[in-house]
Amino acid sequence: MSESGSQDAWVYMEHQAGEFTGPSLEVLAAGRKVADKLGQKLVAVLLGTNIEKLAHIAIEYGADQAIYADHAELSNYGCLQYTRVLHQMAQKKRPHAMLFVADEIGRDLAPRLAYRLETGLATDNIELEVTDYFYPPTKTTYKNLMVQIRPDFATRVARIYTPRTRPQIATVRPGNFKPLPKNPMRKGEVIRFSGSLVDSDFKVVVEGMEDLPKSGVDLQGADCIVSLGLGILKDGKGNPRNPLEAYKLANELADTVAAKWGMKVEIGSSRGLIYAGLKELEGIITVDRQVGQTGKTVSPDIYFALGISGSVQHKVGMQRSAKIVAINLNPKAPIFEIAHYPIVGDLYEVVPKIIEEIRRG
Ligand SMILES: Cc1cc2nc3c(=O)[nH]c(=O)nc-3n(C[C@H](O)[C@H](O)[C@H](O)COP(=O)(O)OP(=O)(O)OC[C@H]3O[C@@H](n4cnc5c(N)ncnc54)[C@H](O)[C@@H]3O)c2cc1C
Repeated sequence: MSESGSQDAWVYMEHQAGEFTGPSLEVLAAGRKVADKLGQKLVAVLLGTNIEKLAHIAIEYGADQAIYADHAELSNYGCLQYTRVLHQMAQKKRPHAMLFVADEIGRDLAPRLAYRLETGLATDNIELEVTDYFYPPTKTTYKNLMVQIRPDFATRVARIYTPRTRPQIATVRPGNFKPLPKNPMRKGEVIRFSGSLVDSDFKVVVEGMEDLPKSGVDLQGADCIVSLGLGILKDGKGNPRNPLEAYKLANELADTVAAKWGMKVEIGSSRGLIYAGLKELEGIITVDRQVGQTGKTVSPDIYFALGISGSVQHKVGMQRSAKIVAINLNPKAPIFEIAHYPIVGDLYEVVPKIIEEIRRG
């Protein structure tokens, strides 16, 4: 769609058993930021069955308007039906931006919709900004463009501009925005949308739903994360160390923090350490502990980075932590660019001292 006449920031809200999912509320907060910068409305978009009440709750969580399509055929997620209705909504109302959670549903819906609307899509964003943008090929300045910010495949963070078509569609990675507090006093408009489906939308039939087994590791719910990197393989003198020693040390630190400060603590890891495939850490440092671009995005109160260099792919997953304590032998390690407590030293010497200090304090 062309940019003319487009307005408002839309957020597609996922829900389960009558409640919004946490990541959807996070993306709604991201949408609030975009809408405020645009000086336009934040619109929550919902699809499903018996969801009018939920549409009102979206207003309480920060939307100015909620548009919902309520049909028996939309009771379970179906990519063709959902794409059809969203496409009809977007064609009718012409949003400026549309945000989705970067999860299984958002990653399925957003590209389908972008294709049908003939517009751009930037995936896996960790931040969104709004700014004017000069497009050299046509010497045009586009006002109020949503800039989509995400790590690229190497060492940089990319800023993506999709100036010429609307809506600007983006998926946003969970863990990067905090949901807004629910305010039952907030007022907003709730609109029912009647979409129409066609036979070919029912080529895929959902026969049943089953939850996947849940991992026992809850990085995103932790108040404190003690993360290990490849630096655990050698001490400060260059002597090889059994990685289990560092794992035990990390657990001792975790237990001390939990006992002394009453925090929920988890052990995390860089991808470097997980993919090193060390026999000693088999079944212990598993992929559900990975922090970063292709792992979890976390923002605990305290993040300990032990022997982690701080590649851009690791940093994008933990840079919103309230306090970052980094221990690294190399004073030029990139992790120190974002650490609140940079400690240059050997983790095998420094961690026992930190444990002692916390116990004493
Ligand atoms: C598409 C893509 C996606 C990726 N996704 C992720 C991701 O989600 N998460 C992630 O973590 N990585 C990810 N990576 C990998 C990333 O680029 C890095 O390779 C990885 O993070 C490095 O892990 P590391 O910091 O443990 O190891 P290294 O980079 O090898 O760093 C080890 C550090 O330990 C220090 N050190 C050594 N000995 C000690 C000691 N005794 N005491 C203290 N410090 C010591 C060293 O100075 C060094 O800085 C991705 C890469 C790509 C291309």
